[in-house]
Amino acid sequence: MSRARVLVMNSALGPLDYRVPAGMAVEPGSIVVAPLGPRQLLGVVWEADRLRSQSEVGDNRLRNLLAVADALPIAAPLRRLVEWTSDYYLAPPAAVMRMTLTSTSALEGAKLAVEYRATGEVPDRLTPQRAQALERIGDRQGLIRELATMADVSDAVVRGLAKSGALVAVSVDVDSPYPSPDPDHAPPDLSAEQRAAADRLVSGVAAGAFEPTLLDGVTGSGKTEVYFEAVAEALRRDRQTLVLLPEIALTEPFLRRFHDRFGCEPVAWHSGLRSTQRRRAWRAIQSGQARVVVGARSALFLPYRNLGLLVVDEAHETSFKQEDGVHYHARDVAVMRGKFENCPVILASATPAIETRQQVALGRYAEVRLPARYGEAQMPAIDAVDLIAEPPERGRWLSPRLVKEMAVNLDRREQSLLFLNRRGYAPLTLCRACGHRFQCPNCTAWMVEHRLSRRIACHHCGHAEPTPRLCPECKGEDSLVACGPGVERIADEVAALFPAARVAQVTSDTIWSPAKAAEFVGRMEAGEIDVVVGTQLVTKGYHFPDLTLVGVVDADLGLEGGDLRAAERTFQQIRQVSGRAGRGAKPGRVLIQTHSPTAQVMQALVTGEAAAFYAAETDARRDAGAPPFGRYAAIIVSSEDQAAALETARLVGRAAPQADGMAVYGPAPAPLAMLRGRHRYRLLVHARRALDVQDEIRDWLGGLAWPAKVRVAVDVDPYSFL
Ligand code: ADP
Ligand code: ZN
Repeated sequence: MSRARVLVMNSALGPLDYRVPAGMAVEPGSIVVAPLGPRQLLGVVWEADRLRSQSEVGDNRLRNLLAVADALPIAAPLRRLVEWTSDYYLAPPAAVMRMTLTSTSALEGAKLAVEYRATGEVPDRLTPQRAQALERIGDRQGLIRELATMADVSDAVVRGLAKSGALVAVSVDVDSPYPSPDPDHAPPDLSAEQRAAADRLVSGVAAGAFEPTLLDGVTGSGKTEVYFEAVAEALRRDRQTLVLLPEIALTEPFLRRFHDRFGCEPVAWHSGLRSTQRRRAWRAIQSGQARVVVGARSALFLPYRNLGLLVVDEAHETSFKQEDGVHYHARDVAVMRGKFENCPVILASATPAIETRQQVALGRYAEVRLPARYGEAQMPAIDAVDLIAEPPERGRWLSPRLVKEMAVNLDRREQSLLFLNRRGYAPLTLCRACGHRFQCPNCTAWMVEHRLSRRIACHHCGHAEPTPRLCPECKGEDSLVACGPGVERIADEVAALFPAARVAQVTSDTIWSPAKAAEFVGRMEAGEIDVVVGTQLVTKGYHFPDLTLVGVVDADLGLEGGDLRAAERTFQQIRQVSGRAGRGAKPGRVLIQTHSPTAQVMQALVTGEAAAFYAAETDARRDAGAPPFGRYAAIIVSSEDQAAALETARLVGRAAPQADGMAVYGPAPAPLAMLRGRHRYRLLVHARRALDVQDEIRDWLGGLAWPAKVRVAVDVDPYSFL
């Protein structure tokens, strides 16, 4: 009899043994359906044809596997990646594996799907629900379920519309092949410097071996053009490429550039895909037919057939760190994937993370540099505005110098960008009469007023309410005042200063889909926008030749929290947003508003001399034993029941191991003491680099038990300390 060890998709369980019934063929990696209690679960065979060892469950007590999916087995390198990720980030292997099995319909054989779209006919009986459905569906197409979700009606309403003739069934071949990008479609004319850089990356792809490389080039140096040459080489060699982007908003400009260079779009993987699109992409990725895939973090665990190149663009971005479910850093996991797949990994950035620079210093990563902007474009002139010496007018946030420069730009018909990393109108709203502040009922956080949508909202959990007119405490009328600026308030200030200027706000409230991003890019390029006011969403990737002035409204904002990466992050963010200025023939200038113009980070930004700043930051990290010289891991204990959370946190704290080279701090209430209705306590583990912290934590937590209502999450290499 043959037995198989199967990783079933239940995070509470490790691999389980099953019997492989006669006539069923499985191998390691086979995707199977396995019984678990009364349920049927997907699973992946980890070891096949196992023989029983003495101590194990007897053959006669094993249950049969039920079916094998009509999909290729998960290949060995990806299985190793799942094991590595699970070990390193202390996450259940099933939770990691689930990030691969993200389309159940992809596991069924070839098929046609029936989708529906509107015919334009109005049904005889037009109920309000039906009218709403037709209006929201518009000219989109999808499965019944998807249309119902889109329209916020029940499936029955959509089915009714189909029966009435208002929607028509369309059968789609869900697996039609993707067009193949042509490596020779429109190759660029590279500068000598770019050519040299591209040649190194190309030879890496040609060698077909693991090699992490930092592509370190100033903003506008042509990093994308250069790594596209490596993508072209992978295409010529019939190998797949994965390009990871930090933000879905960047996908749209990327798709267009890719199209210009290779003659068709790559396969985009993101959370907005319809079920049939998801299935089609997943199967094409697994068959190798999808040649180039671009996506956010979630594209990293897909089952590529023959990966030949991984690119992490804007590799320093902290959004590559996943903060819920499996806490992993996509940049680091991408490097491991490259190792297991034995292919090169390119980390592209104008402001590489200290962690990455350190790997270069140690000789573990290669480095390819592009020190100058491409073509005539020069780096912008950067200056600091001392907010104490040159303060804005009362109740305003833009200093006279910045306002003057904006006026110059408007006269010249050039575009300006104001950067403030704060959504909404004001970060805090309070009652002038009684001092009442609006706090989120679910989180330790103030509610942020959004005037565009006339709501106050919590940026941590999404809780929102209509903005009240009366103070809920003292019933004072129109007594609420906004404290501090958000993007909306800056946009108001610009409108008041320059009534004729066309202002656009770019935040996750206005740009929530690739289509919205495309619309914004189109309007910028057509010169329909004079001033952009935006959050970190506008700091990266975009290339607008007529954008020549960047104003940083509050450069001190990012330094407030004071965690170990605060200065580095401030540097990266402001350097990135500065990089949007003067990317074309017209020179750019940048004004950084700050209360501490002499701070080292501000000096580094103004002089452009990053080396001294990085050296000082690196030394400080070394002295503190902070990453990358030492290691941190956070343990977050949370529960809706505060007493239970505290008790478990204390239990964890008391059981802390006494290992040499490791210290445990806490438990202490988290800075975000309540989040989404859960009370939170944190412990911080600080260890020497060489110590196997994961092993220590595994043993430590493995020996403890806590009530089911308490969650204990481990965050290895944490980026957030909230
Ligand atoms: P980065 O990613 O380093 O900020 P990009 O790759 O976005 O730089 O390049 C900046 C701009 O310069 C883009 O519009 C790009 O198309 C253009 N560019 C860069 N190199 C070349 C080249 N060799 N030929 C033509 N255009 C180029
Ligand atoms: Zn909240």
